[in-house]
Amino acid sequence: MIKKAFAYREAAPSVNKEEKKAAFDRSKNAVLNENGLDVLLVRNFDDLRVPTLAAYDAIILQYQDVERVYELLKAVRSSSFEEIYLKPCFILAYEAHVDPVVEQLSDGVLTEPSILSHFAKTENILEAMAEIADVKTDFTGRKLLLKLMRYLYSRQSPLVPVPSKRSHTGYAFPFLEANVKNYEYEEIFHLLEAGVQRGFLSEDFVDVMHLCSKCNSGFINYREVCPKCNTRKLTAQNTIHHFVCGNVGPESDYKENGKLVCPKCDRQLRHIGVDYDKPSLVVECENGHIFQEPNMETFCFNCHSVGQIEDIVEQPANEYHLTASGAETALSGKAKVKEEQKLADGFVSLPVFRTFLKLEIERLKLNDIHTTVSYISLLLSPATLKKHEDNYEDFRNDLGTLLVEQLKPSEIATMLDDDVFLVISPEGEEEPTKQRFKEICERITGVLVNSLDGNKADRVAYGSFEVEADNESESVMMQINEKLKVF
Ligand SMILES: [Zn+2]
Ligand SMILES: [Zn+2]
Ligand SMILES: [Zn+2]
Repeated sequence: MIKKAFAYREAAPSVNKEEKKAAFDRSKNAVLNENGLDVLLVRNFDDLRVPTLAAYDAIILQYQDVERVYELLKAVRSSSFEEIYLKPCFILAYEAHVDPVVEQLSDGVLTEPSILSHFAKTENILEAMAEIADVKTDFTGRKLLLKLMRYLYSRQSPLVPVPSKRSHTGYAFPFLEANVKNYEYEEIFHLLEAGVQRGFLSEDFVDVMHLCSKCNSGFINYREVCPKCNTRKLTAQNTIHHFVCGNVGPESDYKENGKLVCPKCDRQLRHIGVDYDKPSLVVECENGHIFQEPNMETFCFNCHSVGQIEDIVEQPANEYHLTASGAETALSGKAKVKEEQKLADGFVSLPVFRTFLKLEIERLKLNDIHTTVSYISLLLSPATLKKHEDNYEDFRNDLGTLLVEQLKPSEIATMLDDDVFLVISPEGEEEPTKQRFKEICERITGVLVNSLDGNKADRVAYGSFEVEADNESESVMMQINEKLKVF
């Protein structure tokens, strides 16, 4: 039961004149209070800063400029904070048609400035957000797969591919695309595959996309070309079979002063089906080659590469549902509750690492020195993860040992989760350290692919940044966290 009708907040006695004016001014943003929820009605996108959205329970975006609404929703969904990216957001479209990709980033389309028509849904999302907010997120918690699981959990609905010309492939996954830079579609495919492999997501077939093998674009022209000279200038015509004399030839050979005359026996053709027939088509190219079946060639409108039809990549466009294990992970922020990790030789535990980091920052304050922190993240393909399912810890420790062997004696290394190593390099400046870690990671990748049963899809990402004397050790950890956000 709805106890009270919604009221503009300016009706409350405590609100000042400025706010009162704002609520009536159709070019300004306003706050509505609906059933105890604070709802921000956004009409002016210029005045809006995404972090401030955390202050409201729900957001309504007026749909006047589709691109502004799209940009804002992408900014919301790509935030790394649960209070922002899970925020219930609605589109106020009145009668307008809403772009389906933009709509999918929202929680519904409204015809009047009120969320009451979607109140139960809003409450469910807010409840899920409260459940998740209580979980102390570890590093895994910032990564895109977990983020997706939390989004799906809070929405209680599957991830659906949306056919759209906005999408690079033809099928958009708007939530993921908002989070992945520069059309890194491979990243999206790998992520969904990993989600299924790890049992967090289940997939339902929707369609198969046909994508450019060079750039994954779905915007492809299928061309018919001459099998001999590859030209695209082709003309097709019927063949004529003259029953009387048995001659078969292209229709053009029979044309004579507007009549059809057999070039072999000179008789005029009379009735199709009676004295002659058109059994098939022949194709002739501009260079005079005659054939029946042209070759097919593909042309990618995005990267302009020309290819064979066999090269086209078939990529399933599935619908993804959160599994029970996925829901559990969404709430716990941990892939599985594990016993104490067995650390490889040469690694310190995470608490010890944090202590070192604190001490290092203290040292920076007193001395003119440089300290750099680096992360090495194992982005293993689902196939490799599957192969090492039963001995993952040993496998990971082998890679860890390989790393430690290449470190300087003064460097401190720890492990995060299953797949990230962190290293403090005291007296290391950012650029040379980065260069060293680049080489170290190349060696690790080499061993991984050549001796540890890995494959080409396995990647080792790394990054280094110098710690500033005014950093807090926690803010350094947050910084690493941000960089590890994707996957
Ligand atoms: Zn030709
Ligand atoms: Zn004839
Ligand atoms: Zn392409």
